[in-house]
Amino acid sequence: MKKEFAVIGLGRFGGSICRTLSEEGAEVLAIDVDEDRVNEFANIVSHAVVADTTDEAVLKSLGIRNFDHVIVAIGDNIQASILTTIMLKELGVKHITVKAQNDYHEKVLSKIGADTVVHPERDMGRRLAHNLLSNNVLDYLELSEEHSIVEIAANRNIAGYSLIELDIRAKYGINIVAIKRNNEIIVSPQATEVIKAGDILIVIGADVDIDRFEKKVL
Ligand code: ADP
Repeated sequence: MKKEFAVIGLGRFGGSICRTLSEEGAEVLAIDVDEDRVNEFANIVSHAVVADTTDEAVLKSLGIRNFDHVIVAIGDNIQASILTTIMLKELGVKHITVKAQNDYHEKVLSKIGADTVVHPERDMGRRLAHNLLSNNVLDYLELSEEHSIVEIAANRNIAGYSLIELDIRAKYGINIVAIKRNNEIIVSPQATEVIKAGDILIVIGADVDIDRFEKKVL
């Protein structure tokens, strides 16, 4: 059975979700109050409809409760986003993901029962800032307020040493979960694995420990 998604709000964020889900073969119902936006998606998704999702009768008539996952990607209209989310929740939608515009919006969404709240501008900003701050940090994924997974380019200081020689886990309390080498990826590398120049280390741990590792070793 194909998974069925409904995406409400066809701006840049919601639109890009619709395109990707459709490309991957998922059934997508795309909804927006703006007719031009809906027309843009008519040939991309399975169904595209013009509707105001702050109207409960409209949501019911769309059969929204039957979708596996509903994504609320309404942009600046925070009131409409909150109202839509509350009604989706009341109608019993299993999984609701909502895009937050700011921290206050995020708090409210979590309180009213949104299952996942995303904050793409803030998260992308953080990721970029981490990349800008360190020449070695290539990518960054926040796991919690204090923990992350980071891609770090190995430099001369650690190339030629095995993981056991570097004793990273004991010294820094972080774990190397994988090593990217050319087009290969070594998952859960052995302690005897020798790091080569050009390797990309995928490291998991507390931010303070990763930071210490970067400053000391890289
Ligand atoms: P982005 O920052 O992702 O580009 P936008 O603010 O451009 O976001 O897009 C949000 C979309 O949500 C717009 O196309 C807008 O018409 C739509 N929208 C706003 N309110 C509602 C609503 N009540 N019901 C359905 N769609 C809505």
